[in-house]
Amino acid sequence: MDVTSAPVPAAVELIALTKQYGPGATAVDAIDLRIEANSYCCLLGPSGCGKSTTLRMIAGHESTTSGDILLENRNITALPAAARGTAMMFQSFALFPHLSALDNVAFSLKMKGVAKAERHARAQDLLERVAMGHLAQRKPGELSGGQQQRVALARALITQPRVLLLDEPLSALDPFLRIQMRAELRHWQRELGLTFIHVTHSQEEAMALADTMVVMNHGRIEQVGPPHAVYNRPASEFVARFMGGHNVLRTSAGKVAVRNDHIRLAPAGSTGWTATVSDVEYQGTYVLLGLQLDGSEPKDSAVSVMLSEARFVEQPLATGDRVDLGWDPAQAHALAA
Ligand code: ADP
Ligand code: MG
Repeated sequence: MDVTSAPVPAAVELIALTKQYGPGATAVDAIDLRIEANSYCCLLGPSGCGKSTTLRMIAGHESTTSGDILLENRNITALPAAARGTAMMFQSFALFPHLSALDNVAFSLKMKGVAKAERHARAQDLLERVAMGHLAQRKPGELSGGQQQRVALARALITQPRVLLLDEPLSALDPFLRIQMRAELRHWQRELGLTFIHVTHSQEEAMALADTMVVMNHGRIEQVGPPHAVYNRPASEFVARFMGGHNVLRTSAGKVAVRNDHIRLAPAGSTGWTATVSDVEYQGTYVLLGLQLDGSEPKDSAVSVMLSEARFVEQPLATGDRVDLGWDPAQAHALAA
C-alpha cells in the first residue's frame, strides 16, 4: 500500500433515512441530505434531536430502520463499519495513555495483524501529515490538548477513510481550548481534503466550522445551508430561536425574525412597539439589552437588542427605562407560519 497516498474525499447521501428505537420512538424521521465531498458539514440541534443516531448510522455503529446511505454513489447501508470508508473521532480523543503517539495511531493496524515495520511507517507518515512527526514517541500525557487532538486525527485516518465522523469532539474541553481546537479541526479538514461530518449542539461552533449546516429538530431536518444563509434567513421560528441573536415578532403582516443588531431604539411612544429595559449586559464591543414588550403574551414579550458600545455610550439606558423598538422592514425576515 502506498503510504503517501492522499485521501480521496467522498460525498455522502442520505435517502429517507429512518431510525425507530421502538413503537413511537422515532429518533430519525426519513431525512434526505446530500453532503458534498471535501466539505465540512455540521449536524446541529438540541439534545435528543437525532444527531448522534444519524452519525452512528453513517458510521455503521447503529442499524437503520429504513432508508439508504450512499458514499460516493455506493450503497453502504448494509456494510460493516470497517468496510464503509468512514472513521469516527471520539469525544476527548480517547487515546490510550500508556501508548506512545505512534503506537496509538498504529493500534488498529496492529489489531489487523499488519507487520510492525509497515504499521509504524504508516503511523509515522500520518503523524507527519498532521505536523506531529517529531513527537511520535511522546505519550498522551506529555502532549498539549491540541497535540492530542492531532494524534486522535491521525489515528482516525489510519484506515484511509474518505469521510471523518466527529460526535461532539470538543464538548468536554474548557471554553478556551474548545475555540483553539475548532480552528485546528477546520484547518485540518482543508489541509487533508476530507469530508468531515461533525455533530454539535452549539450553534456558535457550527457557524464557526461549517461549509454546510444541517439544523435538526425532533428527528427531522429544519434547514440546510451555509451558516450565513441559515443565520440571516432562518426557515422557521425554531431555527430563528435556536440560532439565537434574533427576535421573533408578531407583526400585523405575520411572524417575522429580526436580528438583535438590526433593532433601532426610539423615544417611547414613537413606533408603537414600546418596551421596558429589564437587563443591561456589557460585552465589550457590544452592549446587550434585554427588554419586555408591552401588551405581549409572556412567551413573546422578551426581546434582545445588541448595540455597539459607542451607540450605548451616546444614549445610555438603565433597567426600567422605557423605549420604542423600530426596524427597517427590509431587515425583517418572514417566518413560515
Ligand atoms: P442527539 O445526539 O441529537 O442528542 P440522539 O441521536 O442521541 O440525539 O437521540 C435521539 C433520540 O433517540 C432521543 O430521544 C434518544 O433518547 C433516543 N435514543 C438514542 N439512543 C437510543 C437507544 N439506544 N435506545 C433507545 N432510544 C435511544
Ligand atoms: Mg448526541
